[in-house]
Amino acid sequence: MAVKGVLTVSEVAVESAAAESEVRRTQRVHRTRVLIVGTGFSGLGMAIALKKAGQHNFLIVEKADDIGGTWRENTYPGCACDVPSHMYSYSFEQNANWSKMWSEQPEILDYLRRVVDKYDLRSHIHFGVEADGGEWDERTAKWHVATTGGAEYVAQFVVSGIGALHIPNIPRFAGVERFRGASWHSAQWNHDFDLTGKRVAVIGTGASAIQLIPEIVDRVAHLDVYQRTPAWVLPRTNFPIPHQLRALFRRVPLTRMAFRDGIYWVYEALGLGLNGHANLMRPLERIAEHNIARGIDDPELRRKLTPRYRIGCKRILGSNDYYPALNRPNVSVITDPIAQFTENGIVTADGTDRPADAVIYATGFHVTDGFQSMNIAGIGGRKLVQEWNEHGIQSYYGICARGFPNAFFLLGPNTGLGHNSVVFMIEQQIKYVMKAMELVDSTGAAGLDVRTSAQDRFNSEIQHKLAGGVWSTGGCTSWYLDSKGVNRTIWPGFTWQYWRRTRKLNPDDFELLARTP
Ligand SMILES: Cc1cc2nc3c(=O)[nH]c(=O)nc-3n(C[C@H](O)[C@H](O)[C@H](O)COP(=O)(O)OP(=O)(O)OC[C@H]3O[C@@H](n4cnc5c(N)ncnc54)[C@H](O)[C@@H]3O)c2cc1C
Repeated sequence: MAVKGVLTVSEVAVESAAAESEVRRTQRVHRTRVLIVGTGFSGLGMAIALKKAGQHNFLIVEKADDIGGTWRENTYPGCACDVPSHMYSYSFEQNANWSKMWSEQPEILDYLRRVVDKYDLRSHIHFGVEADGGEWDERTAKWHVATTGGAEYVAQFVVSGIGALHIPNIPRFAGVERFRGASWHSAQWNHDFDLTGKRVAVIGTGASAIQLIPEIVDRVAHLDVYQRTPAWVLPRTNFPIPHQLRALFRRVPLTRMAFRDGIYWVYEALGLGLNGHANLMRPLERIAEHNIARGIDDPELRRKLTPRYRIGCKRILGSNDYYPALNRPNVSVITDPIAQFTENGIVTADGTDRPADAVIYATGFHVTDGFQSMNIAGIGGRKLVQEWNEHGIQSYYGICARGFPNAFFLLGPNTGLGHNSVVFMIEQQIKYVMKAMELVDSTGAAGLDVRTSAQDRFNSEIQHKLAGGVWSTGGCTSWYLDSKGVNRTIWPGFTWQYWRRTRKLNPDDFELLARTP
């Protein structure tokens, strides 16, 4: 019989096991003031803003084992940005040494790595941790974020930097499971497969396809390019930036800033044509038609490659190599729809069977339906996915959503661009999030939630503007539109207008949440 106050051996064992499991449990709960999800331009930019403000109480979860987002994932041959690097980079971390106007993926990834080291961000990042859902606890005014590995993160603020172009979209073609060759998406490049001398099929003719096709065309025995809709492709020479100019940018930073500003305004001018003045885009169409004419000999192929919609309706692309690549004798451009895959290749609707050793999906990403995996429950348990499925994707400046207090989205709905660098948009959003947190802190509130009236006003205004934009009037369908044809992706207007409107936060647009005693 055990003496009162003295534990038996088995009781000690049970107690220490319980204590151990308590330690394990608490070790797997990470408490922080701000939880950032993702380490692309968005997440890293947010972390830097916090550090610059002297706020070090934040964590970043990243599902992969490295930083970089888009620029870690996309390693296909020829992968590069399509807005000049001097503009497609942080304004506060300008780089005098970009080697080309449009840098390639390794250089952009290196740039992001240098930024991470400079701001000493690695100690804040938990790699290999995938956020799997968030729940707002009204009692404590905190977010509880679950992760696939089982750890939980508890934070006052959550900032999503999960990106818009990160879930590869692979169409489900009939019979695809029968295909015995290799296949992969452009964002998951198979570096182990040697394309030399192989029959290769590329499905898609968008931004990634026009970069990778010229890079592989010389190596393959034959290339079948399956095109659904042609893209408008402007001529573009990706010239190396001369050493002397780089040296000047280093020594006289004003010249680098002026160069960046020049790029900004040239690209910004496109915004006029995209937003209701489509006729201004006609000269660009003539230039793009000239690009086809000089690259392609066969009139029938020229016809196939000439878009029948207004330029800008889909993303405008640039390349001097794309059409010459398609003009080569070992390339076929196929416009008949794909009917099915066979064991050895692809059969189109006209019955033609074309063998393929490898199929490369250059078919883009899930964009307007990308949020379907966001398992987020806000005030009263309301589910973000359900709300957005029922009422369409609604947010306030793409940053906040009613009913989801203290949660912020970077590069959220309707803040993508067809004409300039999204890094500019991301930076404005980060500043806005900082202001929102400051408002919470300065008022002693527990949090803030955007008012329905502000969100509704914003959405009807932008949808009204988008209705007159080239994405809706230009005669195409694109990944900018959701399944109902509503544009949930693009910011309608100039980016400086977004800057002007988000540069101040109007406290009246928000409801402050009181602290519970
Ligand atoms: C090939 C390519 C070229 C592009 N070129 C340009 C260009 O020239 N100009 C331009 O303006 N835009 C361009 N874009 C768009 C580009 O996506 C954005 O410019 C920008 O990189 C987005 O940054 P981000 O940080 O918001 O998202 P991402 O770069 O996608 O980063 C998101 C990060 O979040 C992580 N993540 C996602 N979900 C979770 C989760 N649940 N838990 C934990 N981590 C998660 C991902 O692993 C990733 O690291 C391009 C896109 C592609 C694909």
